[in-house]
Amino acid sequence: MATLGIPKNTIEIIQKYNFMFQKKFGQNFLIDTRVLERIIEASGVSKDDMVLEIGPGIGTMTQYLCENARKVIAVEIDKNLIPILSDTLSEYDNVRVINEDILKVDINKLVNEENDGKPIKVIANLPYYITTPIIMGLFESHVPIESITIMVQKEVADRMKVGPGTKDYGALSLAVQYYAEPKVVATAPANCFMPRPNVDSSVIKLTRHENVPVNVKDEKLMFKIIRASFNQRRKTLQNSICNSPDLHFSKAQIVEALKQMGLSETIRGEALTLEQFAEFTNYLC
Ligand code: SAM
Repeated sequence: MATLGIPKNTIEIIQKYNFMFQKKFGQNFLIDTRVLERIIEASGVSKDDMVLEIGPGIGTMTQYLCENARKVIAVEIDKNLIPILSDTLSEYDNVRVINEDILKVDINKLVNEENDGKPIKVIANLPYYITTPIIMGLFESHVPIESITIMVQKEVADRMKVGPGTKDYGALSLAVQYYAEPKVVATAPANCFMPRPNVDSSVIKLTRHENVPVNVKDEKLMFKIIRASFNQRRKTLQNSICNSPDLHFSKAQIVEALKQMGLSETIRGEALTLEQFAEFTNYLC
């Protein structure tokens, strides 16, 4: 099968199957071999690896993954792409395509069954609206993962790397930095895709930390506090926590924790670093 990274080959497949692009699934297929090669190189996929590809589309990246990995599991939501994938991946015997919404897949179970519970690499080029739940879900559910190499809107990549004091700082930045080391490994202007999206993209590699960078007694509680802070980011930290249905602390407890940390009672959550969120959580514990 000729590489689908060449526009002519992608057009041929689209026409052969009379495929209709679905906006709701964020379908913009990569048509740039340099970007595809760069993703493979940066992800460090080798014949030792099992790769989970989220959203294979017509199989453009999947072909490269099959060539380079030991095993590829590709999860695609759109049933209309399944016959196309059978065709474009027909010459590979190391791939399994699953027709499912990735948010409904029990990835821990999949890794146990397919890779004896050993860490996998994740590669994804996804609609932007599910990027955050997927990344946070993968990390928070403690799926054994070595790295996630993911194509995201340029601004989302920037958001993953920032700290307090910027408008882009949020729950995603904190989750990414708590669990992984983020590094932008490629850029992909809009003309690398068919159809052309309205935004440029970046490929970011998140390499999971061997040891998390801060000491926190209750990780789940810390992320509940972080979510509450950024759900109401213009409110003070104490009001955000008191208003959150998921948290049950009194104003007095919150004020005392802030006092112990030498922070103002009126501080907003968006001003806290990851270390401070961890310390604050430990006081509340
Ligand atoms: N990886 C291909 C490429 O680079 O050419 C396709 C990328 S396209 C931006 C996103 C793909 O994710 C589409 O094929 C879409 O149908 C699929 N997708 C969207 N939402 C999904 C979900 N919740 N679970 C699994 N796949 C999904």
